[in-house]
Amino acid sequence: AVRLEGVTKSFGATTVLHGVDLDLSPGELVCLLGPSGCGKTTALRCIAGLEPVSAGRVLIGGSDVTEVPVNRRDIGMVFQQYSLFPHMTVARNVEFGLGMRRVARAERATRVGEMLEIVGLSHLAERFPHELSGGQQQRVALARALVTRPRALLLDEPLSALDAKVRVRLRDQIRAIQTELGITTVFVTHDQEEALAVSDRVAVMEGGRIAQLGTPEDLYRRPVSPFVADFVGLSN
Ligand code: ATP
Repeated sequence: AVRLEGVTKSFGATTVLHGVDLDLSPGELVCLLGPSGCGKTTALRCIAGLEPVSAGRVLIGGSDVTEVPVNRRDIGMVFQQYSLFPHMTVARNVEFGLGMRRVARAERATRVGEMLEIVGLSHLAERFPHELSGGQQQRVALARALVTRPRALLLDEPLSALDAKVRVRLRDQIRAIQTELGITTVFVTHDQEEALAVSDRVAVMEGGRIAQLGTPEDLYRRPVSPFVADFVGLSN
């Protein structure tokens, strides 16, 4: 449902992705895991259409979106920083995700209500972002990303601004919601524990390449290189 074929990305003379191939099954959650600077965020931005690729193709839901602009790729995104509109209520923030789409007002309200229920925030619909905890704000961001029922969900370090306890709880909630909705998800993190806990498969990245792609168990038991073994076993 999300596929990269030979995706290369250069900034000027510097190549940061070297022909990355990746293929997610429908409903699968794959983490891009690796140290700072390995190209995780750049790969996600290429999938999103926030960066044009230098070579290769991006496919979402079977269609080639390499030349399709970000707002027409039919994806939902959540970033590290809470990016809610401070002057809008929770419900309005979620509704904003429906954007310019021609959805009738009654249908909008239904969809917003459904999403708030899924993320467990129905009781906070009329609050403003500053009245919420960091974890609650990220759940609003998740609801906003999913309210259009996108074909894929892209998460860039969505938990890293949160404290440890909230991080684990929200991680499990994201996984539960992702599974319930069956939405194909790419999850960027530098935290190996998080990646192993949340993923169907993990793509360990090193220097703009995928060093290994496998289930958490594969990586743990059969790392293909000392780099993967170290990173999966020892970092943090
Ligand atoms: P981090 O966890 O620190 O965000 P990352 O694995 O997500 O790291 P990227 O942000 O994808 O890494 O960056 C990969 C490389 O590309 C880095 O060397 C970075 O400096 C470089 N890079 C990213 N964006 C740009 C840009 N707009 N212009 C030039 N170089 C860039």
